[in-house]
Parts: sequence; C-alpha cells; structure tokens
Amino acid sequence: MKRTHIVIHHTASKTWANVVTQGKHKVAPFHYGLELKGNRILIHKGPNILEPASATKHYNDSAIHIAAVGDFDKTTPPPSLLLALAVFTSDLAFIFGVPIDHIVGHSELPAASTSITCPGLTFNLDKFRDKVIAAFPRLSKNLTSIPL
Ligand SMILES: [Zn+2]
Repeated sequence: MKRTHIVIHHTASKTWANVVTQGKHKVAPFHYGLELKGNRILIHKGPNILEPASATKHYNDSAIHIAAVGDFDKTTPPPSLLLALAVFTSDLAFIFGVPIDHIVGHSELPAASTSITCPGLTFNLDKFRDKVIAAFPRLSKNLTSIPL
C-alpha cells in the first residue's frame, strides 16, 4: 500500500494504555505510539502498518500515523521524546519514500477542522521537521528510498 504522508499526533492522554482501552475496538487508532517512560522510550504498535489507521477522517489509508504519548496542548513535549520521534519518523520516511513536506501534524491536514490542535499547541512542527531532516539516513547520494 502506497504511503504518501506521515501524520504526527499526540495522544492527549497520560499513557498509551489510555489510548488502547478508550478505543472502540481496543486497538489504538495510530500505527505507532512513542512514549517516554522514566528514561526509556517505548514504541507501541497499533494496527499493522500496511492496514489503515483510524486516526483521522481522511488519510487513514494513505498515511502512516504516529502518536507521541502526552497532552501537548497542556505540557511541552520532552526533548528526548521529540528526538526519538524524529529519528523514528525519519527512518519510516526513508523506507516509504515520503518527502519532508508530506510529514505533517494532524492539524496541518487540509481536511482537518480548525478546532483540531493535534499534536498539541506546544508542539512546534517546523522544528520537528528540522530534526527529521537532521536524522535522515544518508546511505547513498543517489538513493532516496528503498523499494519494498
Ligand atoms: Zn491527531
């Protein structure tokens, strides 16, 4: 399945467990969730990456949806979580051939309602994209993506 975008979310919850138990089908709406627990980053899995997510009204089929665990309307994302998210996003962008301008916050999607603040009012998406670029793997000058 072609993935044209990577969409970044926050969970607006304290833990990943909240996300899963609140879901209609006990499956997280996001393909992945990154959570800072103590001084470790946990990577949680939702639906299979080749299956649709249920994270937004549109783009569930065409995007990879990654959530940072936390409510970043209320608190700022921890730097270590942002860095892990950027590295993880960068690897997926590389593998799926997603260009940097297609790595977007949920609130940046054209179809998103103006009331949507996800991934949070304190989440600086431009600075995040800079971190993704900095982490982008440079295996070869000529190789921009690995065909699956
Ligand atoms: Zn969202």
